[in-house]
Amino acid sequence: MTEHAKSYYAATAHKQDARPPLQGTERADVCIIGAGFSGISAALELSERGFSVIVLEAVRVGFGASGRNGGQIVNGYSRDLDVITARYGADAGRQIGAMALEGGNIIRERIEKYNIACDHVPGMLFAAITDKQVKGLEHHKKVWEGFGYTGQFEMVEETQMQRHVRSARYAGGMIDRKAGHIHPLNLVQGEAAAAESLGARIFEDSRVISVDTGAAPVVKTAAGEVHAKFVLVCGNAYIGDLLPEIGGKIMPVSTQILGTEPLGDEAAALLPDNLCVEDCNYVLDYFRRTADNRLLYGGGIVYGGQDPASIRAKILPNMLKTFPGLKDVRIDFAWSGNFALTLTRFPQMGRLSPTVYYSHGDSGHGVTTTHLLGRILGEAVAGVAERFDVFAKLPYFPFPGGKTFRVPLTVLGSWYYRFRDQVGV
Ligand SMILES: Cc1cc2nc3c(=O)[nH]c(=O)nc-3n(C[C@H](O)[C@H](O)[C@H](O)COP(=O)(O)OP(=O)(O)OC[C@H]3O[C@@H](n4cnc5c(N)ncnc54)[C@H](O)[C@@H]3O)c2cc1C
Repeated sequence: MTEHAKSYYAATAHKQDARPPLQGTERADVCIIGAGFSGISAALELSERGFSVIVLEAVRVGFGASGRNGGQIVNGYSRDLDVITARYGADAGRQIGAMALEGGNIIRERIEKYNIACDHVPGMLFAAITDKQVKGLEHHKKVWEGFGYTGQFEMVEETQMQRHVRSARYAGGMIDRKAGHIHPLNLVQGEAAAAESLGARIFEDSRVISVDTGAAPVVKTAAGEVHAKFVLVCGNAYIGDLLPEIGGKIMPVSTQILGTEPLGDEAAALLPDNLCVEDCNYVLDYFRRTADNRLLYGGGIVYGGQDPASIRAKILPNMLKTFPGLKDVRIDFAWSGNFALTLTRFPQMGRLSPTVYYSHGDSGHGVTTTHLLGRILGEAVAGVAERFDVFAKLPYFPFPGGKTFRVPLTVLGSWYYRFRDQVGV
């Protein structure tokens, strides 16, 4: 495949000519593998710091999760801040908690600084289906305020929910004014163009087939090679078997999105203040309006990363449960993409050698985290590794069952949490 997966985003992105593949031998301070948010965020950070950068992308910039996600700027990590403290101790909790808003801030700063047109709209709503989930949101607000993040969260009573989302499903909610939504393919392409304007070189259709992790690392594709001082591995769920010591730490998980036909005024009736929404279930639904007034409705997961037999059959029942009035609406787009799950649901960074670093595993909440971790990769290459080491020192836990049984065992575990969501305990 040499093009983007067919999605609403691929169909509506600003025109971007394909970049040529790598040919022959090139040299740079830093070679980055993968042009998603992680790789491009690091490329832009390093280019701003004056490093020469080459990015090698197997397909197109934003081909992976970054160019086809829900577009929701969700602050924090896939686990809440108090879980980090409980699991890794007060120091790690404080340090990681202090960075919880930075990914979103980086996105907003870059949109402004590089004038990136990506339909940015501020604000998101966490929608609780059960009373237990409402209590969970109250707890979340309290925890974040304990970290000093005050003024951005508003609890929403059940009776007020339909002012924000015209659905009878919800028992209450919480708005995060510092979250929001974007057209992710236009964002990652805009950031890639910004890095190029500062001298970075990006080669598409350039799948990396080997990495020499020695003191003078060499990265090879079928048609060329890059000699660099540092290599950053940012292939996330699409890394495959390139570096087994990396691929073995994560599990690809697919999630699916439907895009309706343009709904005109009906879109504003469904989501009057244009917040993006995610519910609080373990396997959550997420949805939002687009700039051309469609509804993008996502959810569902497949552990292991395969596409389901029918995306429509998997997602449409959930969409109609939330918005029964959309039963006759035409579905124009249906697509799937993979994110990388870790056992702890917490991202991992590390070194394969003194010259080769990696970052992956945002576990489904990666739009902000990848921007933060890309910056931190850049800092580490520049010799300021304190923040990198906060993440790199977190203990790593492998999926039980090894490569053969990790998928069925994870499915079993998730059934337990889905059951709890269904019965509201
Ligand atoms: C359908 C979907 C919806 C989502 N919705 C949201 C959301 O609303 N909010 C949110 O916060 N998160 C969401 N996520 C998660 C988020 O999109 C990801 O966590 C994030 O984009 C990961 O970025 P990345 O750069 O690490 O990986 P990717 O964007 O997957 O990029 C990795 C890149 O590496 C390239 N690559 C891999 N191997 C090689 C190789 N050998 N050589 C060269 N290149 C290689 C791939 O082609 C790919 O382009 C969603 C994910 C999906 C799939």
